Amino acid sequence: MRVSWSQEGVEQMFEVYDASGLCDKTLYEERGGEPDGIMLHTTDGRSSQDWLQGGSRRAGKPASSDFLIARSGKIIRIVPRGQMSYHAGVCRDARGVDTEGRTSRRLIGIEVENADTAGEIPTPQQHAAAAGLVLAAAAFYKWSPLIMYGHYGLAHPMGRRSDPHAWNWGYMMWLMAHAHESISLFGANPF
Ligand SMILES: [Zn+2]
Repeated sequence: MRVSWSQEGVEQMFEVYDASGLCDKTLYEERGGEPDGIMLHTTDGRSSQDWLQGGSRRAGKPASSDFLIARSGKIIRIVPRGQMSYHAGVCRDARGVDTEGRTSRRLIGIEVENADTAGEIPTPQQHAAAAGLVLAAAAFYKWSPLIMYGHYGLAHPMGRRSDPHAWNWGYMMWLMAHAHESISLFGANPF
């Protein structure tokens, strides 16, 4: 899938790069069903692809995601299609405290590379790429309503996570609402 985004007459193109072959096989498992929404994260790091595909395991803190969005807006598939990544950790859901990975299984994890602690703010390109990716997922899975969470919204106990850091939800939703004029999607669907 490619996402074409124009702002003030400047056209930009984001493509989904499948890097899932590089991922440590202990950082994902069969999803066993279709996801019904997304969870957005920021990485608070700089070598995020390596961290999500093996570094986290080597550090004894296994974590992955379905997709990573670089500062340029480049979208990288982290785990293979049909697999569930380990992005949410312990969360709250309708059944109570989820320590079994239900939230990671149910929601597609999208990591945005960003140095949270250093006060960095996600780029407009990252917002546009995320908006395009979410629109493509919603169309593919026929999500209505569309369910979107920030990690901080479901992490348990409350306050365990504060990401996505400085994410501009209003801007993202504006991009999604104006997709017909600012974002176009074409090419093979990545889901
Ligand atoms: Zn997170």
